[in-house]
Amino acid sequence: MEQAISMQDIAQAAERIRPYIKKTPLVRAEKLEALFGGAEIWLKLENFQITGSFKLRGVANKVCTLTEEELKRGVTAASSGNHAQAVSYMAALRGAHAAIVMPENAPQAKVDGARGFGAEVILHGFTGEDRDQKCEELIARYGYSLIHSHTDPAVIAGHATAATEALEQMEGKVDAVVIPCGAGSLTSGAARAVKGLNPEIATIAVEPAAVPRFTQSLAAGHPVTVDMGQTIADGLRVSKAESINYELIRDNVDTLLTIEENWIEQAVREMAFRAKVVAEPSGCVGIAAALAGKIDTSAGKRLIFLITGGNVDGEFYSRLLRG
Ligand SMILES: *Cc1c(COP(=O)(O)O)cnc(C)c1O
Repeated sequence: MEQAISMQDIAQAAERIRPYIKKTPLVRAEKLEALFGGAEIWLKLENFQITGSFKLRGVANKVCTLTEEELKRGVTAASSGNHAQAVSYMAALRGAHAAIVMPENAPQAKVDGARGFGAEVILHGFTGEDRDQKCEELIARYGYSLIHSHTDPAVIAGHATAATEALEQMEGKVDAVVIPCGAGSLTSGAARAVKGLNPEIATIAVEPAAVPRFTQSLAAGHPVTVDMGQTIADGLRVSKAESINYELIRDNVDTLLTIEENWIEQAVREMAFRAKVVAEPSGCVGIAAALAGKIDTSAGKRLIFLITGGNVDGEFYSRLLRG
């Protein structure tokens, strides 16, 4: 069956974005392994990506597909977090104006993060629908190009390169790739890429038990919207499953897990003190699922965890570390 993203789309994305992104390290975390059943634990450290998360990969790919004319008119995006920073950074690099729509209650650190690369930040409403509507208005008025955070195929193909890069860096066999899942664009792309390269490698996605949109969508057999529960994984706070992400996840993810908050909190601490990595809660849900015993970490296995980002608020992070 034809999938929305092809392996060629992903290979082209990798080529296109090479000048704009960092090849992030893949490291073995021996001290984390002591917590598990004997498996080798490898971390793909996208917290070291230029803007502090993998989001730059998809955004860079999308921006590279825009014409000079479109760049001159500018770009817009709705986001409260890492997508905003990536759009702001990439637009600045290409000399394009970026108008980022954020909720009126966005934390100052995130507003500053986006403004830091020169974007115009527009605070509007509180819900995702409010922000999407504002983007539509700006597009009609100024002719901006929309950089959608998770439904654009160019963004999904760009995100997929986090997985292809990790598999290129790994010598020898890999048993599974573990992927944090929010709106599902990273999961869609990365799982598609892994299965396209080697269907024997297991693809495991992890979403917060508090917002299980894809677990419920798969059970229902179609994309659904769930209630927005409370989770410290702010990059995974998305209640609605979109169909392009749903279909790619359905077709390429072997195991979709949910994880509770207490495990995410513990994972943030283990990442800091054992792996020596500053990872945000959203980036730790895979490790959290392993801590909870939901992933097979028996001896002889070799697992790659995508550590998706490291943009933390100092106040909140220090509270998490204290436990
Ligand atoms: C966006 C994000 C995710 C989730 O990616 P989706 O494509 O929305 O599923 C995970 N971790 C971090 C750090 C993110 O910024």
